[in-house]
Amino acid sequence: MLLAVLIGVSASLEQGHTAQAADAPPLNQVVVDSDAPPAPTVEDLIEDRLDQLQAVAAEVDQQQFDASLAKREKAVRKNAAAIKAELDRLKNLKRFAWPTKGRIGSGFGMRKHPILRTTRLHNGVDIGGACGNAIYATQSGTVTRANFSRSAGNNVRINHGSIENKKVETAYLHMTKYTVSTGQDVAKGDLIGYVGTTGLSTACHLHLALYENGRGADPAQYLVKD
Ligand SMILES: [Zn+2]
Repeated sequence: MLLAVLIGVSASLEQGHTAQAADAPPLNQVVVDSDAPPAPTVEDLIEDRLDQLQAVAAEVDQQQFDASLAKREKAVRKNAAAIKAELDRLKNLKRFAWPTKGRIGSGFGMRKHPILRTTRLHNGVDIGGACGNAIYATQSGTVTRANFSRSAGNNVRINHGSIENKKVETAYLHMTKYTVSTGQDVAKGDLIGYVGTTGLSTACHLHLALYENGRGADPAQYLVKD
């Protein structure tokens, strides 16, 4: 502004005549203002707006990335928890609960049968206990048999599914009575019957048998005494 004023003044001074001063631009008319920035062009405005939009877009992208990261972190944590639960389950699978009060009186292996008097495999363990003591499922599973047979008396068989790639089942023999039925799902520690001496038995005890892929195995390797 000051420059324009000076230009205007010097121009009228050079001309030297007041009559010709009317041809000079009026003092208040600004022709050039070199101090002020040039007015933004439409292109400049568009560019500014684009910059702003890109900044917003970048912000949105970042937020979406953060959100997806948080979601993925949550999923990974959930997955890790599921793997831990599965590991715990597998670890727990081979830790069978003690099925009834008492110790193992007669173990798994060859022995002379107390009634039949012949040497044969004692396919299970005998856990001594008073008649009527509760019998619990050693592990969770599905009852595949709950009936009476001449040799096993009142007996229950439970399929525990696959443990270390073997189909594992347990059988509970000589019960006074059983409290579950075929097809029923049981949890580890559920009551399934009571100690008795039904079938080929000389006194009240629980004969616990264990099968790996249908073959008799020593239940003691699965049992954990509290
Ligand atoms: Zn036995």
